[in-house]
Formats: sequence, structure tokens, C-alpha cells
Amino acid sequence: MNKELQAFKKLLQDHGMFATKPRLQLFELLQQYPALKISELISLLSFHDQATVYRNIKIFEQLGVINRLRLGWESKLELSDLFQHHHHHMTCIKCGAVTTLPEDRLLEQQIAKIVHNYNFVITDHQIELRGICKLCKEE
Ligand SMILES: [Zn+2]
Ligand SMILES: [Zn+2]
Repeated sequence: MNKELQAFKKLLQDHGMFATKPRLQLFELLQQYPALKISELISLLSFHDQATVYRNIKIFEQLGVINRLRLGWESKLELSDLFQHHHHHMTCIKCGAVTTLPEDRLLEQQIAKIVHNYNFVITDHQIELRGICKLCKEE
């Protein structure tokens, strides 16, 4: 079992929740794909009880397991920094493609520097660049 999955199980346990099959399957899918729409997630799951999916997504959000990437009126879900390397995104507003950007140490340092004067402690952050991807630009 990978260590993220173990950490996920422990997090559930610490909150008095069971590591049910749907929860584990949701988590594993989110590990496999960089970002998924809820509809994509549902089509990939072996169980099709949408109420269970929505309920568990809500729990995942409350526990800080996932981030929601806004995509117009829709959104995509991905695992939070707790379960994968910190990174930023580029999202295409036409086709919805999400590109994960490599971590940039200088940028991270710069962010820390900017808030330093405000006596503010960052617990986490997300940067999402929205625009038109290469493929959509060529159309
Ligand atoms: Zn595109
Ligand atoms: Zn960052």
C-alpha cells in the first residue's frame, strides 16, 4: 500500500470515520489522475450511487483531502498538498485541460517574502492561471 493511502486511512480513523470501499476508490482515482470533474470521477467508479460520491466529496473537502479547481461553472477535484507535491496549475477556459506546473522554489520564496511584512502565516496556497491552451489557440 502506498504511503499516501496509509496517511489517508489514518486521517479518516483520526476523525472517527471508516475507510469504506467508495472512499478508498475515490482516493485512488484522485491519485491516478491529475484533476477530475465530478462527472468524470463518477464514470470511472465501479459504484454509481451519486449520492455516495457527493457525500464523500464533501467529507474529503472538510478533511482537507482535496482541492477544488474552479472551471467556469464547473470544477475539477484534485488531491491537496497533504497527499502530493505542492504545485500550481494552468487551466484552459475553452477545453478545461488542466496542466500541472513544476514546483518553482524561487516563486515559493517570493510568495513567503511578500507576506512576511504582514505578519501573516500561510497555511497553504493555490495558484491557478487561466487562459487558452496551445491546442485551442490553434483551432
Ligand atoms: Zn484548451
Ligand atoms: Zn506554490
